[in-house]
Amino acid sequence: MQTPMIDYLNVLLDSCGEDAGEIASYIPELANADPDRLAVAVATLDGEVYVAGDADVEFTIQSISKPFTYALAIADQGLDAVLQRIDVEPSGDAFNEISLEPETGRPRNPMINAGAIAAHALVGGDDAEQRVERIVELYSRLAGRELSVSEDVFESELASADRNMALAYMLRTVGTLDVDPADAVRGYTRQCSVSVTVRDLARMASVLAAGGRTPDGEQVIDPVTNRQVLSVMTTCGMYDSAGDWLTSVGIPAKSGVAGGLMGVLPGQVGIAAFSPRLDPHGNSTRGVRMFERMNHDLGLHLMTSTDSSRSVSRRVEHDGAAVHEIAGDLHFMEAERVLRGFTEEPAGDGPVVVDLDRVQRANSIARRMLLEGVRRLHLDGHDVRIVDPWGVLGSAETGSGELVHGEHAHGGFVPAAFSDVASAVRG
Ligand code: GLN
Repeated sequence: MQTPMIDYLNVLLDSCGEDAGEIASYIPELANADPDRLAVAVATLDGEVYVAGDADVEFTIQSISKPFTYALAIADQGLDAVLQRIDVEPSGDAFNEISLEPETGRPRNPMINAGAIAAHALVGGDDAEQRVERIVELYSRLAGRELSVSEDVFESELASADRNMALAYMLRTVGTLDVDPADAVRGYTRQCSVSVTVRDLARMASVLAAGGRTPDGEQVIDPVTNRQVLSVMTTCGMYDSAGDWLTSVGIPAKSGVAGGLMGVLPGQVGIAAFSPRLDPHGNSTRGVRMFERMNHDLGLHLMTSTDSSRSVSRRVEHDGAAVHEIAGDLHFMEAERVLRGFTEEPAGDGPVVVDLDRVQRANSIARRMLLEGVRRLHLDGHDVRIVDPWGVLGSAETGSGELVHGEHAHGGFVPAAFSDVASAVRG
């Protein structure tokens, strides 16, 4: 069978319609790009990448670099230190607006140029060159291949970077920039000039979607930092069309003036599009259209309510034991359902089996809620057994339930009676 995924992406490219807008020309080299290029890529968290169109054409990452450099600045300096220098409020301004918070002199967020130059300068390194090296190294780890700077685009932008220079000197006067402003702009411009394809961007997005972990299991960005980055992308990633984007597409995203557009659906997927003509906000016209269509077709919007009231727990009786069979991934609301099931047990010494055989994952909140439930059943006088063949509860203290652990699935030490109860009930 050939997967329909790629057919869908081709349909998506065909449905983009007439292109509109202009190629960015304030960076002279960008004006040489072929305006008809069009590509899209979708990367799963386990490393599958589906592409269509000009998926191997390279373009410069430009502002899509900003969230990643922000992550590195936080890793190097700590979140508090970075927040003292760069705020996280949407500015509603264009990307290169010369504006700082009047009271503090902080750039309003790290997605506009002022904040991005400040974030670049907060990346650790002995000198300007080492900062850039570390940044390109991070991008390469995220993309899963070695990336490099397009020297042509770099030279071209640097030669016309007066506005960014003005921003950097302004940052320096208010004490937000500790390094030489010209060095900061040079380094920032190199970071923007890294060449990527939609394949690379989708894969980088998929790492953000996976909480900072690559498909190979490498935790490249700390989960809390990753969350910070995605939050700022959500409110500020699309500049002065952030509100429009959040309502119509509804996922954290970042655009670049070379025509790239990257979107992240947390926990699910990384997506990238490329088409060089830009709308008046500086976002790829056809890129935005493709994301709008994908939201419609694939239900990406973060604010779409999912039905979490689906029953994940059922209680059956077997040989005098009450068995709570639980299924699916457990978060706060699923754990609440499980606890509600536990409350149906009248206090007494009847045995209770908590069967997690069909649970593959529980987040830390759900785990704590479950363990507290087990502890209370125990306090009520029950003999509680937990069947946890997948080790969902980890090494957690089981709250006075006897843990009949992972060995269950591998023929280990589960007391026969209880593994029989669990499997007999499941049939
Ligand atoms: N390098 C570009 C600049 O600083 C990035 C802008 C963008 O992609 N929006 O102007």
